[in-house]
Amino acid sequence: MLATATIFRQLSYFSRALSSCCERKRTKAVLALLLAALASGTTIAVAQTSALLEVESRANSEYANLFLLYRHLHANPELSFHESKTSELLQQELRSVGFEVTGNFGGHGLVGVFRNGAGPTVMIRTDLDALPVTEQTGLEYASRVKTKDDQGNEVGVMHACGHDVHMTCFVGTARLLSQLKDRWRGTVIMIGQPAEERGGGAKAMLDAGLFQKFPKPNYVLALHDAANLEAGRVGVTEGPALAGTSSVDLTVRGISGHGAWSYTTKDPIVLSAQIILGLQTIVSREMRAIDPAVVTVGSIHGGTKHNIIPDEVQLQLTIRFFSDAVRSQLLAGIERIAKGMAQAAGVPPGREPIVRVREEESIGPTVNHPELTRRVSSAMAATLGKSNIVPTEPVMGGEDFGYFARTAESIPICMFWLGAVTREKIEESQKPGGKPLPSLHSNLYAPAPETTIKTGVKAMTAAALDLLGKK
Ligand SMILES: [Zn+2]
Ligand SMILES: [Zn+2]
Repeated sequence: MLATATIFRQLSYFSRALSSCCERKRTKAVLALLLAALASGTTIAVAQTSALLEVESRANSEYANLFLLYRHLHANPELSFHESKTSELLQQELRSVGFEVTGNFGGHGLVGVFRNGAGPTVMIRTDLDALPVTEQTGLEYASRVKTKDDQGNEVGVMHACGHDVHMTCFVGTARLLSQLKDRWRGTVIMIGQPAEERGGGAKAMLDAGLFQKFPKPNYVLALHDAANLEAGRVGVTEGPALAGTSSVDLTVRGISGHGAWSYTTKDPIVLSAQIILGLQTIVSREMRAIDPAVVTVGSIHGGTKHNIIPDEVQLQLTIRFFSDAVRSQLLAGIERIAKGMAQAAGVPPGREPIVRVREEESIGPTVNHPELTRRVSSAMAATLGKSNIVPTEPVMGGEDFGYFARTAESIPICMFWLGAVTREKIEESQKPGGKPLPSLHSNLYAPAPETTIKTGVKAMTAAALDLLGKK
């Protein structure tokens, strides 16, 4: 058991590190644990509680420096597949705290390994990329970056999905695990994954041999900020957490002609309108009501002028699902309805619609391993307080993090949600006529940095420490 004097020394160090009333409240759970440990008089309980105290105080004292990193990342976002400077910066951060780092792994991916004796291997993932969104938050450190997208159009660039929050928490966790290396045994692998938003980065790193060229992890963890959850809280979902998604290109072909002589044509615009309405019946009439699914037509382009019936119309669809069987059913429904309606409209053979599934932009569902999720959840509760762990419903948004579980190795994974909004903003949004909360990907999305980052660092470090072998 720790000597009483040591415990009091740690307590006074800890209380000096608490910089706000809010933090004092949030650490009540840790203090309660310490008192329980003192009462029980067991060495292990005191050692573990003391580790939690250190996580708390070190996360708080790292914050000022982490905020500088966050500002820099926020103001300098890079699009998917172009994250070279972001990746370089994270590589330097990991090297500076003792990780062996490999860059350019699966595109701009990076892998940092910290070996600390025999024990479990825990992998922690952040994503690196930003979105083609022009920031409108008005923040002093708002992104003003403009670039050309792959089609050559000038676009603004913004971390509108909060991947800058993820990276900052990732660096904070790396620092704490390095500082606390006497308190755990095993191997920590920290990966920076490119191109999450386009769905290609996780697969690229796995195809490059992530699980073969580095120690194979026993667990893989990640966090994602949440635009509707209070900062200071985390959301956890056991089992299916985020949907699988596929992008589908649908080309509806007809026979072109003059708008005044429509009877001599096969109008692909009218046919597209019928197909779009027909697609609505897949989810409402063909799927079992207990199988969540979405079919959305997100884009339609056809024609050049008022009085010309065009040759073809291009539609872009996204589908969402939680099982491979539902995915197959949705895709079969899209093809059958599109081709059947074309036939009903009298489109001749050889001009039927073309359905192309973009496999390169398709991802499977993210399914959190139930037992690992419960373990991570209780480790985070010990640090953040039980009331700050919120059971969260699955969402139809997609994430390529799910790929890390969908390999031959079947490694347990867990992604949890990190609250990023102040209570005031949530309450304001709930008033009649109140200002709605900007969602992820909104040009107005502005996470509350201090509480969000501190909570992310504490939650991820506590989860990793729990999974790693104790000394
Ligand atoms: Zn996103
Ligand atoms: Zn994201």
